[in-house]
Amino acid sequence: MIKLASQLEGIRTVAIAGHVRPDGDCVGSCMGLYLYLKENYPSLETDVYLEEPKEGFSYIRDLDQIQTICREEQTYDLFITLDASAPDRIGVAFSCFEHAEKRLCIDHHISNPGFGDINVIVPDSSSSCEVLFEMLEEEKISTDCAAALYTGIVHDTGVFQYSCTSSRTMTIAGILMDKGIDFSHIVDESFYTKSYVQNQVLGRCLMESILVLDGKCIVGVVNEKDMEFYGIQAKELDGIVSQLRVTRGVEAAVFMYQTSAQEYKVSLRSNGAVDVSAIASYFGGGGHVKAAGCTLQGSSYDVINNLTLHIEKQLREKEIL
Ligand code: AMP
Ligand code: MN
Ligand code: MN
Repeated sequence: MIKLASQLEGIRTVAIAGHVRPDGDCVGSCMGLYLYLKENYPSLETDVYLEEPKEGFSYIRDLDQIQTICREEQTYDLFITLDASAPDRIGVAFSCFEHAEKRLCIDHHISNPGFGDINVIVPDSSSSCEVLFEMLEEEKISTDCAAALYTGIVHDTGVFQYSCTSSRTMTIAGILMDKGIDFSHIVDESFYTKSYVQNQVLGRCLMESILVLDGKCIVGVVNEKDMEFYGIQAKELDGIVSQLRVTRGVEAAVFMYQTSAQEYKVSLRSNGAVDVSAIASYFGGGGHVKAAGCTLQGSSYDVINNLTLHIEKQLREKEIL
């Protein structure tokens, strides 16, 4: 495993960026690295670029240092992407990424082609936070940095539940705990706590969800007008797909929310039999075998038809349908 320190020789300016619609692993890894560099390499000029994270992450130190706009002419010695599976996922800082002297890509997505000059991509790893942890010097990780890294591991493992959780993941979580983090608060604040309207939208989406493919696939949709009615933002909708997935008998869960008249952002989850990364990649997205995403054009019916055809094909191949 490449160590971070070996990549910092001769470097003066560093940019850190995650992916569009940042999730817990994205925010946790970007902020964990930012804090680590600030604390251990104070002579480096480090900037962190992200879209504004959702409210639940406010316990992470220096969240107010996040920059949401990147000046195109800025040239960094080193640009580090975390949890971004493809260049088009970088979002706000993409032009700076292009202009950087050296690009280091740290990730755990199986669909990542390795778009950096140097790539540390570990598909078996639970999270980008876990990959990053392995690149750092353990004794240089502060309590604040540990809290950020723990956040990412918690989110991408569904609180140590998903099959991406390994004994090494638990060991790392233990090491981070020993740094003195308030782990119960982190899990509650960033993962479980939802606003009243978030719960209302979750309830409504579940109530209106449909079972297709003989009960093997569940689909939940949130339209633009629902989001307007409840005054809810897209970043507040995560977690809905997880609830859909745990419906008994279901092999695949599809959650989609409308992003414009004829466009839906889709989240796919699998209970094992279906490779949702392959389906998301086919439609121009990506992700992991059991959790992936993409954006599709058309009406909600078009999108559901297109996706379920692929899910059906995989289920038939495995003779589950
Ligand atoms: P989501 O359903 O959006 O929470 O995403 C599930 C997983 O798929 C995450 O690891 C995302 O980073 C990845 N993912 C989601 N959307 C895309 C996309 N359009 N392209 C590539 N990867 C994606
Ligand atoms: Mn992510
Ligand atoms: Mn991740």
